[in-house]
Amino acid sequence: MGVIDEIKQRVDIVEITSAYVPSLKKAGRNFKALCPFHPERVPSFYVFPERQSWHCFGACGTGGDIFSFVMRKEGVDFGEALRILAQKAGVTLTPKQGDESQRETEKLKEINEAAAEYYHYLLLHSSAGEWTRSYLAQRGVSDKTIEDFQLGFSLDSWEALREQLTKRGYQEDEMVAAGLLVEKEQGGTYDRFRNRLMFSIRDITGRVLGFGARVLDDSLPKYLNSPQTLIFDKSGALYGIDRAKSAIRKQNLVVVVEGYMDVIVAHQHGFNNVVASLGTAITEKQVGIIKKLTKSLTLALDADAAGEMATLRGIEVASHTFDQKVVPLPTSAGLVKYENLLDAEIRVMVLPPGKDPDDIIKESPEEWGRLLEEASPVVDYTFELIVSKLDLTKLKDKSLAVDQLLPLIAKIKHPVRQAHYVQKLARLVAIDEHNLASALSRLKRPAKLKGEGEIVQPSTLIPLLSSNDPLAEYCLSLLVHYPQLRSHATELSADLFPHSENREIFLAWRSATDLDSMRQGLDTTLQEHLDALLTRSLPPLSEEEQERALRECVYRLQERWLRDLKTKEEWLISDVQSEGSAAELEEIQQLALRLNAQLREVFLQRESKPKS
Ligand SMILES: [Zn+2]
Repeated sequence: MGVIDEIKQRVDIVEITSAYVPSLKKAGRNFKALCPFHPERVPSFYVFPERQSWHCFGACGTGGDIFSFVMRKEGVDFGEALRILAQKAGVTLTPKQGDESQRETEKLKEINEAAAEYYHYLLLHSSAGEWTRSYLAQRGVSDKTIEDFQLGFSLDSWEALREQLTKRGYQEDEMVAAGLLVEKEQGGTYDRFRNRLMFSIRDITGRVLGFGARVLDDSLPKYLNSPQTLIFDKSGALYGIDRAKSAIRKQNLVVVVEGYMDVIVAHQHGFNNVVASLGTAITEKQVGIIKKLTKSLTLALDADAAGEMATLRGIEVASHTFDQKVVPLPTSAGLVKYENLLDAEIRVMVLPPGKDPDDIIKESPEEWGRLLEEASPVVDYTFELIVSKLDLTKLKDKSLAVDQLLPLIAKIKHPVRQAHYVQKLARLVAIDEHNLASALSRLKRPAKLKGEGEIVQPSTLIPLLSSNDPLAEYCLSLLVHYPQLRSHATELSADLFPHSENREIFLAWRSATDLDSMRQGLDTTLQEHLDALLTRSLPPLSEEEQERALRECVYRLQERWLRDLKTKEEWLISDVQSEGSAAELEEIQQLALRLNAQLREVFLQRESKPKS
C-alpha cells in the first residue's frame, strides 16, 4: 500500500476538517458548515464520512478528498499537505518520500561532483596524468571535449581521493555510500578508482551519479564502474544523456552505442544524439529514459553481437564480456519487447567487423551517416539474418524459417506491424497468409484481443495498481502515454479525479507541455505515482483507438461524478426531511436546485461533444 492510501486509511475526514472548521456540525449522516472557502450566510459546505470526501454546493461548486481540503485550507501544494497529514496520521514517510532522502541523494551527487572535479583537475594538471593526456590526444580527443565531458584521471593511490574529499568536509561513510571508497573487511577504506581514465556518468539534468573508469595499461578489470548506490544504477543510466538530450529531441532519434569513447568521439564530430548503454545490453529502464525524449531508437551493434541477435534464446543469453562480467547481448526477441514499450520500431545498425563507432566516425563521418541510414528495423534485420542461412527452395528450410520467425512476430504487439510481418513471411516462404495467421494466433498467449468497434474496457486492459481508482488512472495513463490526446482533454474538469494524487497529476499534465517539465513540478511521491502510470503497459492502440478509449473513459468519469453528486444530494434531502426544520428543508431545496443546474450543464456539455 502506498503512503497516500495509508494516510487516507488512518485519518478521518470529519476529524481533520472539524479541526479547521469548528462550526462543522452533524446533519443526518453527514456534516455541514459555512464554507471555509467562500463567504456565505447559509451552510453549503458538506463533509461525507462514508465517502471520506467533502463538497461545497455553493459558490465553490467543488470538492475532493482530505488532501485537497488541506491543500486549499493551508494554501500548500500536495507534497506539503502530504507531510501535514502524514504527521497527523502518524505515518512515517520513508526516506524515499521525505526530505531526509532528498538531502541524502543530494549529498551523494555533491560528493560525486566533487570527485569529478578532482579527477578532472588531476587529468589536466598532475604530472601523473600526463600519460593519460597523451593517450587522449592520440585517440583524437580534443581539449574542448575533455572539458565538455569533464574527463578525469585517478591517481595510483589508495587514499588520494579520500584525503581530498575529507579536506572538502565530506565524511568517510558518505564517500562509501557514494561508491567512491571501498570498505575493507578488516576495517578502514580505500579509493575504489586508481590509475584510471575517469568518465563521469550523469543523469539527464547533468548531475554526476557515478563513474566509469578505464585502465590504460594491462591491469584488470579493463573497465570498472561505480557500484549500485542510492543514486547510481548501471542498468538505469545512459552515458552522455545530459549532453545528448536536446539533439535527441531535435532529431527525434537516439543512437545507442556501447562505449564511453564512442559517445565522446561521436559528439566531438557533431553526432550529438549518441549515448552509451554502459556496456550492458540495453535495458528496460534505459528504454524508459529514452522514451521521454523520442520513440526512434537505433542500436549500433558490432558485427558479432548483431550476428548473434537472431538466436532466439532469450535475452539472458550471454556470450560476450565487458567489465570482466558476462553481459547479455540484445536478442531480437528482447528488442521486440522494447519496441512494444516504445510503441515504435527499433533499428539495428551493424558495424563493420572489428570496428567501433569511435573508429568509424574518426575515419569517415560520412560512413557513419551511411550506416545510420542503412539501419533496418529489428524484425527486418532478423528476417535477413535467418534467411541468409537457409535455402528457401527447400521445404525443410521453409519450415525452419517459419519456426524461427513466427514466434518473434507473435511478440509484436502493434497489430498493423504484426500483420505486415505475417505477410512478409508468407511471401518469403510462399505459404498462404491465412494459414500463417492461424498458426500465429495459436502461438499467441490467450490474451484477449479487442474486436472491431468494441468498447475498450479499462478493467480488462489494465492490471490494477495499488489504486483505489483504476478508472481515473487508466485515463491518466492514456494522457501521459499518448501526447496526441492533449487537445481532447485540456478542457476536462479536475473534479473528475476525486483522489488528490490523480487530480494533481492531471493538473500538472494540463499545465505542462511535456513530461519532463511536468515531472519537475511534482512532489516526489507524486513522481512515483506518475512513474507507475508511465510504466503501466497499455495495449498498442491506433490514434483512433486512443481517442475512443479516452472518450469512453471520460464519459464514465463524468457519469460517476454525477452519480456521486446525486447520491449526496439524496442523502441531504432525506436527512433534512427526517430531522430538519422547515427552514432547513427550504435551504436544501435551494441546494438541490443549484445541483440540478450543475448536472444539466454537464449533460449539455456531453451532448455537444462530437460523437464518433
Ligand atoms: Zn464554498
